[in-house]
Order: sequence, then structure tokens, then C-alpha cells
Amino acid sequence: MQNDGQSEGASTGQIPVEDGYVFRTLLDKMTDGVIVAQDYRFIFANPAMHRMLGYAHDEFIGIGFDAVVAPEFLGIWNERFRQRIGEGEEPLNTYEVRFLCKGGQDSLPVELNANRVTFGGRRAVLCIIRDISRRRYIEQALRDSELRFRGTFEQAAVGIAVLDLDGRWEMVNGKLCGILGYSEDELRNRTFQDITHPDDLQTDLQYVEQLLRGDISNYSMEKRYLHKDGQAAWARLTVSLLYDTENQPSHFIAVIEDIHNQRMAQTALADSELRHRLLMHNLHAGILICAPDARILYANPEASRMLRLDAGTMAGLKVADIGCEFADEHGNALSADTDLVRRVLMSGREMKDLVISITHPDVTERGWVLVHAYPEFDTSSRFKQIVVMLIDITDRQRLEAELEADRKLKAAALDAMTAHVAVLDKRGQIVETNASWRKFALRSQYAGDPTFLGVNYLDALSRVGGPDQSLATQACEGILSVMLGRSPLFQMDYPCHCPAERQWFSLKVTPMDPQRERVLVSHENITAIKLAEEAIRILANTDALTGLPNRRHFFETAEEEFARAQRYETPLAVLMVDLDNFKSFNDQYGHAGGDAVLRSFALVLSGLLRDSDSAGRIGGEEFAVILPHTSLDGACAFAERLMERIAANPPDIDGQPAPYTLSVGVSEMSPASKDFSALLILADKALYRAKQSGRNRLVVLTGGDSTHPGSNAA
Ligand code: GH3
Ligand code: MG
Ligand code: MG
Repeated sequence: MQNDGQSEGASTGQIPVEDGYVFRTLLDKMTDGVIVAQDYRFIFANPAMHRMLGYAHDEFIGIGFDAVVAPEFLGIWNERFRQRIGEGEEPLNTYEVRFLCKGGQDSLPVELNANRVTFGGRRAVLCIIRDISRRRYIEQALRDSELRFRGTFEQAAVGIAVLDLDGRWEMVNGKLCGILGYSEDELRNRTFQDITHPDDLQTDLQYVEQLLRGDISNYSMEKRYLHKDGQAAWARLTVSLLYDTENQPSHFIAVIEDIHNQRMAQTALADSELRHRLLMHNLHAGILICAPDARILYANPEASRMLRLDAGTMAGLKVADIGCEFADEHGNALSADTDLVRRVLMSGREMKDLVISITHPDVTERGWVLVHAYPEFDTSSRFKQIVVMLIDITDRQRLEAELEADRKLKAAALDAMTAHVAVLDKRGQIVETNASWRKFALRSQYAGDPTFLGVNYLDALSRVGGPDQSLATQACEGILSVMLGRSPLFQMDYPCHCPAERQWFSLKVTPMDPQRERVLVSHENITAIKLAEEAIRILANTDALTGLPNRRHFFETAEEEFARAQRYETPLAVLMVDLDNFKSFNDQYGHAGGDAVLRSFALVLSGLLRDSDSAGRIGGEEFAVILPHTSLDGACAFAERLMERIAANPPDIDGQPAPYTLSVGVSEMSPASKDFSALLILADKALYRAKQSGRNRLVVLTGGDSTHPGSNAA
């Protein structure tokens, strides 16, 4: 075995003496350590070896492997390396062990490459020792860096991904999964193209192309991914390339930042700005924005129209300098010192609902605006600007003036009316009254507000009690019938007497508009008319000479009484009375004397009548009397009493008594009586008989044509 070893050693590594110089130089310059050991002790070591372990040349020779192999490796060393060499086996080529430096304090990792050689004719081991501490360090650093990278990768606040050149997601961090809504595994089965919003794919692919061509080294874009839930998710993407050892692109590195909320907020802001601009442009209100020094910073088109200046000309001018005259509601001019902007500036408060007139130098008619101005402050509470809003109320103002004039005219017309007028709303509430109404309320000592405004007239009428209750109810129903459209108008006359005077009013209700939102209630005092009517009626019904009912009126009354007596089957008697030889009175005393006799007779007759009795003058000196509830006997008794009284009370003519007599015909209602006229004809017949039989007497004639001798019958 030994020989075999020697011959092998000779063929592989023995150093010929004559070539020693070349090899020595090589050994001296090598960075790897070279050692030759026999019987596990070093018999040669090159300078690199000494440097590596800190030995001087002569110190190293003679020590054994045991002294340099670090204790933790000694077991492995003895078991694998030493045994094999001992057994003559070919040692395994490469070992990684630790060698102790001189002094044994430090050690360093080495890669040991062992070869069996023959040295000085004996079997030996030649080892090439490479210090791998640097490599280890780098490996460790790499491991650390890898760990750090992993940590960063996973903990990153942004999405990070490594994609292959086809766009397939190879490595993704948790954040990215969160942004896109997919799990790591789900993403690995997809490409970025699969989950890019179609509208953004083209741009992304163009960038990728430029990147791969080397035109750009990276790119950034804002794009939309398709989230797993189907919604677009906005992200800021930054992509660069990873290169392989041949410097060929191997992967994409993508950093993906979630900007969805930010983007949405931006969009909302942009939308709101757009809306704001649109609003400002289309607003039917003028907007002026003024700097703290009252210079106009902005004017919208409506403000330009109102002030008749284009926005460009206005910009930079002060409100007071734009050439218009401003005045307040009462016509007081607003000077530069009192103008609105300045007032807002001084007070720091908003000004609301100010009515201001604007007069343009080249326009005669002034315009009216409703102004609202408020200050805006910056974040340090300094005045930033003043916003002035102008609403054109010229038409409104004109309309209001017209309405006011109209209202005044109507009020004057109402006040000119003598009737007491109130205007009611749909619910019956009084919304307007005229001067007459108020005067009447004061005169009647009404306890409340004489205007009655706010009083519900229907309620007030429904509260009326006492004798006027039914009239009030009638009025209430009449007003309602007009309000509800049941009748076109309503009218009723009613008495309103007080102890001092008799009064009558006429209530008229008329709608004021087709919808009957308002109705006009008027109470006209018609006392004079009523009194006149009454007088006319009395005149028409009364005999002027005697004051007794005239023939027509007597017949009206008598017919009613006759009908009633027939209906209730109560007795009724009738008298016809004629003054005897009256003509001779006229002849003796003149016509006036005759009249005095007639008046005297009427007075005596009236004095005998009961309330239910009626008498009338039905001819020159002919009178009729109707006695309800009176039998024939009662009527005869009445006639006799009358004749007695006449006899006892002769009229006085020219200071002398002028006695006269009567002839009376009496009749009574019987089942045969057709009507009152028939009954009166009967009485008249009786009278005729009384005359015929000598006058100054009464004659009774009934349906049966029988006569009854009177008291003064001759
Ligand atoms: P006899 O007894 O038959 O009734 O006779 P007499 O004279 O009363 O009746 P006669 O019919 O002949 O005359 C009635 C007179 O009454 C005639 C007329 O001039 C008179 N007379 C009628 N109306 C009035 C009147 O209003 N005033 C006056 N003074 N006389 C009147
Ligand atoms: Mg007569
Ligand atoms: Mg007569």
C-alpha cells in the first residue's frame, strides 16, 4: 500500500529539485495556504499559510493538525480525515473546517483541499487551505439582507411585487394582496394584464415596452386595477427591471401604492370645483368677490349684467368706482364710506337682506337688488375676501309698488263705502275691514280691536245668543253658502234695534275671486229705506182722513181672518156702518165739517176695537168692521155699544155739538158663507134694510135671510 501510495504520489505531486525555483516562487505568491504534513505534522507551509494563522515559518513546522483544527471540528476531523489517511484511503477532496490562529483565541473558516502525495520518499498529505471567512461574511450578510428584505417586503406600507416578464405575479406582499383583494395564490395564477382596468391597460403596456427596450429605466403611473370585488381601485404604480447575471432583464419589480381614497377625494374636489364654477356662471344671482381693500377680484356674469360692466373691466376696481350710484331703500345715497363692502369690513359681520338701488350713469331707470355680503377669513383669521351676493329684485320691487298702490286704492275705495265691510278668508277669518266697520265697532263700544283682524267671523256669529240667534245662524249659513260656492251671492235684511233707535241693516256676501279665497261681507245701514218703506206701506194701507185701514187693506185683513175662522171653525161677525144723512152735514158745515165728523167717528170706533178686531173705511161715510171669535150676539152688542158711544160723543163743529146717527148691518159667518165678500154683501144688505126701515138702527141678516130688529129699531 505504501509503495502504491509513493508511486501515486510521485506521479501526481512530487516536486523535482531542479524545478524548485519556479514552484517556490509560485508557493510564495499564492493567496491560498499550502501545507504538507507527514504523520499529521506539518513539514511545509507557504507564506500565505503563515499569514493566515499568524505563525512565523519555523513556528508552524512541526506542529500537528490537532493544534490548528478548531476543537468543534476535531471529532469530524479525526473520524473522516485522519482515519482515511491512516487507512491509506484517498481523503475526501474538500472539507470546510475552522483553523485556530496562533494562540488559539481566534479561528477562521477554511476550505481544505487534501491530496495524498509522496514527500521525501514518504507518504504525505498536501493541503491547499483557502480562507473562506470573507465568503462566509458575505453569505451571512446576504442571509441578513435577505431577511431584512423579507421583513421590508412583508411589512411595507406599499404593495411590492416581483413579476416575470410576461406579467405574472411571482412574489407579492401582504399589502398588495390587501389593495387588490386577491390572496397570494390567486395572484400567482394571474398576470397584471388580467387585473388592470381596460382603460389603463394600453398605457401600462406602452411603458412596459419602453422599459424592455431600454428607453426608460423605470416608470410611474396612476392606474386602476380591478379589485377582486369588481370595483376599480386606483393605485400609483412604479416599475423597474431586475437583471440576471448576464445583465438581461429577468423580472419586473413593481411598487404599488393605494391612492384610491386620495383619488376619489381629488375627483370629488374636481367635481365640486366644476360644479362651483358652473354654479357661479349660471347663478341667477350676481356674485362679487372683493379684496379687503374693496377691490373687485371676481365678478360672475350675472354681476356683470347687473352692473353693466364686463368682468375684465371690473377686476381691480373698487365697488365705489365702477360708476354706478347706490342708494338704500329710503333713497339715501350710499357713499364710498358707507358702501356695503366697507360696512362688512368695519363690522367683520355679514350683512343680510339689504335692499339697495343701483342707478347706472347711462340708464334712467334704477334697478333694485337684494344684497347679502359676508366676510371670509384665512386660516390665521385675517380678512381674506368679502363675498357680495346681488339678487335682482327690480321686477319684484316694481310689482310690490304696484301691489301697494293697488292695495291703497282698494282700501280707499272700501273706506269710502258707507257700508261696514269686512273681507273674510277661506276659513272665515277677517283679513280686512273698512273705516265704517271700525267706526261702527267703536260706536257700539266693542271691547276688542275695532279692526276685528284675525277674528273668525263665522265663530263670532255662532256665538250670538238671545233673540238675534236665528238671524245670526241665517247669516252664518248664507256666508258659508257663498264661500263653498253653493250660491253666487247672499243677501238678507235684518233689524238691529237698540233702545235709542230702530235700525235695519242689509247683509250682502259676494265672492272676491273665482276660487272664493276671499269673500266680501258688507252690512249696509238701510234704516232710512226701511222707515220710508214702512211709511209708504202705512200710507198705502191707511185712509188719510180717518187713519183707519183703507178699503184695500181692510179687505186683505178681513180675508185672512175669514180664512182663519173657516180653518179653525171659530165664529166671525161683520158689521157695515153708514152715517145717516151725512150729506146734510156737508151742506150745513161745509166739507171740512163733514171731515171732522168722519174723524170723530173713526176715533170712537177705534176705541171700541179689540186687538183682533179690524175696521176700515170702505167708502165716503161707510165703514166695515170684522170681529173674529165673535158670534152674532156679540156683534150686535158691539154695534149697539158703538151707536151708544156715537150718540154720547157728538163731534164739536165750530164750538157746537153736531150729533149724528148710524145705520148698521150685521152678519155672521155660517157654513153657507162662500167667502168674505159674500159675507160683507150680506151685511151690506142688512145695512140697506136698516136705511130703508128708517135709519139709526141695526139690522141683522144671516145666510138664512132673516132679519133681527136693532135696538134703535123704529
Ligand atoms: P143716507 O142716510 O141715505 O146715507 O143719506 P146720506 O146723505 O148720508 O147719503 P148720500 O149717499 O146721499 O150722501 C153721502 C154724502 O157723503 C155724499 C158725499 O158728498 C159725502 N161724502 C162722501 N165722502 C165724503 C168725505 O170724505 N168728506 C165729506 N165731507 N163728505 C163726504
Ligand atoms: Mg149715509
Ligand atoms: Mg153712504
